[in-house]
Amino acid sequence: MGLKIYINGELFEKEDARISVYDRGLLYGDGVFEGIRAYHGKIFRCKEHMDRLFASAKAIMLEIPLSKEELTEAIRSTLDANGLRDAYIRLLVTRGVGTLGLDPFECSNPQVIIITDTLSLYPREHYEQGLELVTVSTVRNHPNALNPRIKSLNYLNNILAKIECSQAGVTEGVMLNSDGYVTEGTADNIFIVKDGRLLTPPAHVGILEGITRAVVMELAREADIEALEKDMTRFDLYSADECFLTGTAAEVIPVVRIDRRDVGDGRPGPITLRLLEMFRNQATNNTN
Ligand code: PMP
Repeated sequence: MGLKIYINGELFEKEDARISVYDRGLLYGDGVFEGIRAYHGKIFRCKEHMDRLFASAKAIMLEIPLSKEELTEAIRSTLDANGLRDAYIRLLVTRGVGTLGLDPFECSNPQVIIITDTLSLYPREHYEQGLELVTVSTVRNHPNALNPRIKSLNYLNNILAKIECSQAGVTEGVMLNSDGYVTEGTADNIFIVKDGRLLTPPAHVGILEGITRAVVMELAREADIEALEKDMTRFDLYSADECFLTGTAAEVIPVVRIDRRDVGDGRPGPITLRLLEMFRNQATNNTN
C-alpha cells in the first residue's frame, strides 16, 4: 500500500491526494507551512512548530480551522496510518479555493494538508567532510516586504538563491539582507564559532527563526558555550573558526568553505561536532 496523505480530515492515497487548481496556495503561494520531524514515533518540538505555524497564519490573516491539539492529533494519526516512526512531516495550510482575484476575504475554506514521508537527508559525507557555501546575489526578503519570520508557501526568494548555488556548483549558499548583513542559508539558519563563542544572526536582519536554531542555542548554553545573536557580515564568516547550518531536515551540518575561503582549518570544528552530537542525542532520546 502506498503513502497516505491527509487532506481536511480524510486520508487519501498519494496518487489520489488532490486540491483545486483554484487553490490560492497554488495561484499565489497564499498559505503557510511547517517542516517537522518525528524521531522514534515522537514529534520533535511539536509545540514550537504549532506556535510558529499559528504565528505565521496570524500574520497573513489566515484562520486555521483546527486547534493546535487537533492538528497534532491529525499528524499523529497520519504517521500511524503510514506506519512511520522516523519521518519528515510537511504540514500546510492554504487559504483554499477562491476566484482568480487577489482579495483573500472572498475565500474562507482553508485546506489543511499533512504529508508524512521518509527523510531525504544530505549524504553522509557532507556531515563528515562539511559543506562548501557561496554567498548569493539574491537578497533575502526585506522584513517590511514579506517578513522571513512568516513561513509562507512562497519560497521563490529562497529558490532564486538555490539556483545560484547550483550554478556555482555548490549545495548551499548564504543570503545577505539589503544592508549586506548575513541572514541565513536557503532553508537553514547559520551559526559561526569565534573565539569559543557561538554567534548567529538576530531575527531583525530577516531570517526564519528556526526551531533547530533555538535548540542549538539551548544546547550550547547547557554545554557552557556562550551563545549570542549578533549582526554579522561576510568578513565574520571568512574569519570564523567554525561554521555550521541548522534546520529540521539537515539537523546540524558543518560548513568548511565559504566563497573559496577555508573556514578555520577547512575541517568540521570541535564545537560544531559536539553540538551535532548533542542535538542527535536530544532528538533521538526523546527528551524534547
Ligand atoms: N530558514 C529557512 C528559510 C527555512 O526554510 C528553514 C526550515 N527548513 C530554516 C531556516 C530552519 O528552520 P527549522 O530549524 O525550524 O527547520
